[in-house]
Amino acid sequence: MAVTVRERKLLLGGEWVETGEWHEVRSPYSGEVVGRVPRAGGDEARRAVDAAAAAMADPVPAHRRAEILDRTADLIADRQEEIASTISAEAGKPLKAARVEAERAVSTYKSAATEARRLAGEVVPMDASPAGVGKFAYTMRAPIGVVGAISPFNFPLNLVAHKIAPALAAGCAVVLKPASQTPLSALALAELETEAGLPGGWLNVVVGSAAAIGDVLVEDERVRLISFTGSAEVGWKLRERAARKKVLLELGNATPVVVQADADIEGTAAKLAANAFSFAGQSCISVQRIYVQRAAYEDFVSRFLPKVDALRVGDPADDDTDVGPLIDEDARERILSWIEEAKAQGATVLAGGEAPDGLLRPTVLADVTPEMKVSCLEVFGPLCTLTPYDSLDEALELANGTEYGLQAGIFTNDLQTALAAGSALEFGGVTVNEAPTFRADQMPYGGVKASGNTREGPPYSVKEMTEERLVVISL
Ligand code: NAP
Repeated sequence: MAVTVRERKLLLGGEWVETGEWHEVRSPYSGEVVGRVPRAGGDEARRAVDAAAAAMADPVPAHRRAEILDRTADLIADRQEEIASTISAEAGKPLKAARVEAERAVSTYKSAATEARRLAGEVVPMDASPAGVGKFAYTMRAPIGVVGAISPFNFPLNLVAHKIAPALAAGCAVVLKPASQTPLSALALAELETEAGLPGGWLNVVVGSAAAIGDVLVEDERVRLISFTGSAEVGWKLRERAARKKVLLELGNATPVVVQADADIEGTAAKLAANAFSFAGQSCISVQRIYVQRAAYEDFVSRFLPKVDALRVGDPADDDTDVGPLIDEDARERILSWIEEAKAQGATVLAGGEAPDGLLRPTVLADVTPEMKVSCLEVFGPLCTLTPYDSLDEALELANGTEYGLQAGIFTNDLQTALAAGSALEFGGVTVNEAPTFRADQMPYGGVKASGNTREGPPYSVKEMTEERLVVISL
């Protein structure tokens, strides 16, 4: 079948521009070119900040911002199939998962529109202290300033939406740098925002050298906030370098799940098999470490493995595919080397482990130790480990035993156990009887420890992107 090559331009100050140099986007599955985008550098990034700062000098009222966000949501819904096909082509994401991502971006925009409409401060009870008698005071939420947004490859539409929709709701203009591997969905979204009526300069998209564009976002004082989603390594360095800015970090995880013997073992096995391998495990909350109470371990394994074997591995453009390719050969080689290292250290391969046709089969490892890379680092691939445990305390300690803290899950039918786990698990979110891969877009989502320092979801991001200003009036 002939490949559609999508060509998109950069968005700078309301103009679609070329730079004279082109960046090719390739399918992670076939290696074919699926898109071309002008390559930007420091100059374009500076122009983008100029345009964003100029836009903010002429604020757009909240009702108009909300209308643009609602209209963008409608346009995404209308073009869901086309957008899903772009996500699938550039990220290698199976089409059915790409459709879900497009659907979720609709929710993200609608939630941001709601936030734009209810952005307000509060009245301060001034006469509650003698010093305040005779004064009236209120707070307002003022936009923080130009937002620099940097997004990863794995949700090239919805994680861009999680940055640009709340920023607009908050009244902030944005300079967006999407991942070089997946800029097409971000530019498609920019096109829809423009079609929805967004005035020039409020959204600027630059694709190209991460270092050159990143340097401008770090150094230009007009960029008051950087919202970064990606690897911990890059994120924490950015924060160190941008000491005088607010730097919001949404980073990785080595997602654990605890399965108590009193849980619905069949239902748990089904949920975990789906959520350890969808999009080849390239989600920051893909199930990676499964701890099962010893009394239910054999039963769980015998139900889990056939479900893993039943997953269809193949072409992401095929409607039946569950597991597609990894984003690139380096990622595949890294994970294969971690599997080999774990085997050499005593791990047993219960499923997968091989890599036919440039893919990697869903892989399940047993007999792992907490020190192995597959246990303590983020795999970000189609791999999970199975470990039996005796006591709940032991399981919670194992779950907490990495530097990460994004989301974790527990499956149990006992309320006390669920409540104890909710308190003891050191993560930004804990799911009970649901895979920790679960996310609804309006909920507060983010990590503790090495996994980040903020919560995303429009109600929470809008709060981060606005500053509280106090006005005191002497009566
Ligand atoms: P990445 O390599 O850190 O890249 C993320 C973004 O940072 C890309 O746009 C990249 O640009 C850019 N970047 C790289 N070096 C930079 C620099 N020096 N200055 C400024 N920007 C720079 O991460 P990834 O491989 O795309 O994504 C996978 C990671 O993201 C995983 O760790 C995953 O867990 C995490 N993640 C977290 C969440 C969450 O919400 N917590 C969600 C999804 C993913 P280039 O593409 O041009 O290199």
